[in-house]
Amino acid sequence: AVVEDPGLAAALARRRASFGAASVLFYDRPIHMARASGAWMYDVDGRGYLDLYNNVPCIGHSHPAVAEAIARQAGILNTNTRYLVDIVHDYAERLLAEFPAGLDNVVLTCTGSESNDLALRMAEAFTGRRGVIVTELAYHGNSSSTTAISPGSRADRSVPAHVRTVPPPEAFRSGDADPGASFGAAVQAAIDDLGRAGFGISALIIDTIFSSDGVYAAPEGLLVPAVEAVQAAGGLFIADEVQPGFGRTGQSMWGFGAHGVTPDIVTMGKPMGNGFPMSGAVTRPEILTAFCARNAGYFNTFGGNPLAAAAGLAVLDTLKGEGLLANASAMGAHLREGVRGLCGEGSVIGDVRGAGLFLGVEISRPGTREPDGAAARAVINGLRERGVMVGATGPFGNVLKVRPPLCFNRDDAAAFLTALAEVCVPLAR
Ligand code: PMP
Repeated sequence: AVVEDPGLAAALARRRASFGAASVLFYDRPIHMARASGAWMYDVDGRGYLDLYNNVPCIGHSHPAVAEAIARQAGILNTNTRYLVDIVHDYAERLLAEFPAGLDNVVLTCTGSESNDLALRMAEAFTGRRGVIVTELAYHGNSSSTTAISPGSRADRSVPAHVRTVPPPEAFRSGDADPGASFGAAVQAAIDDLGRAGFGISALIIDTIFSSDGVYAAPEGLLVPAVEAVQAAGGLFIADEVQPGFGRTGQSMWGFGAHGVTPDIVTMGKPMGNGFPMSGAVTRPEILTAFCARNAGYFNTFGGNPLAAAAGLAVLDTLKGEGLLANASAMGAHLREGVRGLCGEGSVIGDVRGAGLFLGVEISRPGTREPDGAAARAVINGLRERGVMVGATGPFGNVLKVRPPLCFNRDDAAAFLTALAEVCVPLAR
């Protein structure tokens, strides 16, 4: 990292001394962050950064509704989860009302990894089989069982014997006219292969916007052939909504909503408490019952405690009260249109896609569809120098991952588009 500021150097030294090799930081010049509000974050010198990266603060950074709800509940009751507490029941009912009929039970947990770990265990208990299908660069968590289904988190992208990977439904480079059909065929081949290997199909688990594979949301109905194949073979479809969930895609609370499929299990996390660590797995009662019969129930000390319920309720109330799904839809379309205006002859921006306020911006060699990871890194660091934060994803690290808080507004969009246009100029042909 390039560090000139002595305060930054001292903070970096402290970080390294305590957190050692596991310390992961963004940027050639890391940011020494102090506070945040709405779509903006501020460093210790008061410099503002427009945040198009964090998808945790979905209703906006440091939203007063969540801050007040947590503070209020912390002063009333917070406990392990073995008691009857009304606010927890209120939250469970409010959350379940957001799901299709049949998905009537929820288990509340603390991280996305925990909810996916539980989903895998539920699928295995219900189907009696172990085989799992994931996408090539999937990331589903940091526990031992979820690392096993997260090829994206390993340098060699390998998976253990009971896991099969399928390519995501990519259409930009392949020119595939029906990516959903190709995806379904790949899933069917993986089901057959798991059968031959003696594992059988337990579950297909998909991040329904393919965040780490490169952001694929179109066309609507994309997931239908794959989900039908899995369910016909007696396997379960687990929708990992950690990234697209809670309204980010605009049309629906959940990424699967646009695809006309009903998952057997839905897992969620990141935006659920706007930063309060909470997550969950929603499923059909018979699946949870099969799991509990085999495992003597499920207990989680912190999962769904009264503080989490207070934070979660404030998030659901604010999503509705501030019309944030409609805003995600409108601002997402506005942003995509703005970015599309920067595509074309000689530009490094080759494509823009996504749904609502989850955009993927393809950075390619001008005039071609060849991915350019180096140019994407230059764009990201250039934007950072202009006070705008985005990330990158995909197998070549060349797809800008744009996921601002759902309160993102037109001024924010204008600031982003101006900065993006500026950093792309020197990279153009
Ligand atoms: N699933 C997906 C799709 C994720 O992006 C992540 C986190 N990046 C997880 C699961 C794991 O969530 P957590 O870090 O809360 O354990």
